[in-house]
Amino acid sequence: MSDKKYKALALLSGGLDSVLAVKLVREQGVEVIPVYFESPFFTADEAKQVAEKLGWKLIIKKLKHSYLKVLANPDYGYGKNLNPCIDCHAFMFNKLGKMLREFQADFLVSGEVLGQRPKSQNRIPMNTVSKASGYKDLIVRPLSQKLLPDTKPLREGWLDKEKLLDIEGRSRKIQLALAQEYNIKSYLSTGGGCRLTDKHFCRRVQDLMDQNMWKYKYVKFLTWGRHFRLNEKTKLVLGRNKNDNDALEKLITENNITLLADDYTGPLGILMSTEEIEQEDFKFSAGILLRYITEAEGVCRVNFFQAGEKIMQITVEKLLDSKTRKYLL
Ligand code: SF4
Repeated sequence: MSDKKYKALALLSGGLDSVLAVKLVREQGVEVIPVYFESPFFTADEAKQVAEKLGWKLIIKKLKHSYLKVLANPDYGYGKNLNPCIDCHAFMFNKLGKMLREFQADFLVSGEVLGQRPKSQNRIPMNTVSKASGYKDLIVRPLSQKLLPDTKPLREGWLDKEKLLDIEGRSRKIQLALAQEYNIKSYLSTGGGCRLTDKHFCRRVQDLMDQNMWKYKYVKFLTWGRHFRLNEKTKLVLGRNKNDNDALEKLITENNITLLADDYTGPLGILMSTEEIEQEDFKFSAGILLRYITEAEGVCRVNFFQAGEKIMQITVEKLLDSKTRKYLL
C-alpha cells in the first residue's frame, strides 16, 4: 500500500453490512466518511442513531426531484413492488461519486454482499449498478471484493485486497462473527426499511404516478397519515396521531391548504389538488376529517388555512365510516 492517506465515501444504511464495510476500510488506514441518502421513502433517523452510537459523523443528503424521475421511469424495472433497486443503487453511487470532489475523497465504498439479494446483488446486477453509476472503477465492496473484479483502489494499491473479504450468499454468519470480533453492537437488523418494498405503501405511490402528481411537493407527504383520493385532481391527507400531525406540519409550505376542526383537537388535514379546489371538495374533506374525531357529533365547524391565515370556515355533518372508507388509499 502506498504512503498517501486515502479517503473514501461510503453508503451507510445503518445495517450491519454497511457498518462492517466502513470498518474494514478504516482498518486499512483510510479515512471513510459515511453518507446516507434520505428520501420520502427512507429516513435517516435510524442510521443517524447507529452512526452516533459508533461515534461516526454521518453526512445526510436529501434525494428529491431527480430521484423521483428515476423512480417513475427506471431503466432496469421494478422489484416485487415499486422498488427499482438497480436504478436506485446506481443513482446513489452516482450521487456519491459526484461528492468525491467536494470531500476530496478518492473512492466509493458499499456494504453490498454478492448473492445476498437475488435480484439486485447478484454478479450481473451488481455489475450493471456499477456501470450505470458512472463510477464503476472507483467502487469497492469490501465484504465481497475478493470475488469481484479489481477496481482502481485495488489495482493501484490504495487498499490491500488480502484484507478484504469473500462473503457470498444470504447467510449472516460471517458478518455476525465479525460484529462480535469488532465489538459492534449498533446496527439495524432491518437494514433501513425502504417503503418502496411495502405493497400497501406502494398504492399511494402508484396513485400519485397515475394522477400526474408525481412531484416532490406531493410525494413528501406520503409517509405520514391517512391518504384519501377524493377525485382525479384532489387528495386529502389526515394525521393519525400527534406524531403524524407534527411531521405533516413541518412539511407544509404557504401553498398548502390545511384544515382543522374548530372545537376539537384532532387530525391536521392537508388538501392538495392539481387544479383549483372546488367547494364540494372542501366540504367533503371537512366531513372526512370529522369522521376521525371520536367526540365530534352531528354538524361541526371546520376551519381551512393557507399561509397561516384562516381562509374559510365550513359547517358540515360528520361522515360515517361507510361513506369515507372507499376513498382511503
Ligand atoms: S430497497 Fe429501496 S432504497 Fe434499497 S435499493 Fe431498492 S429502492 Fe433503493
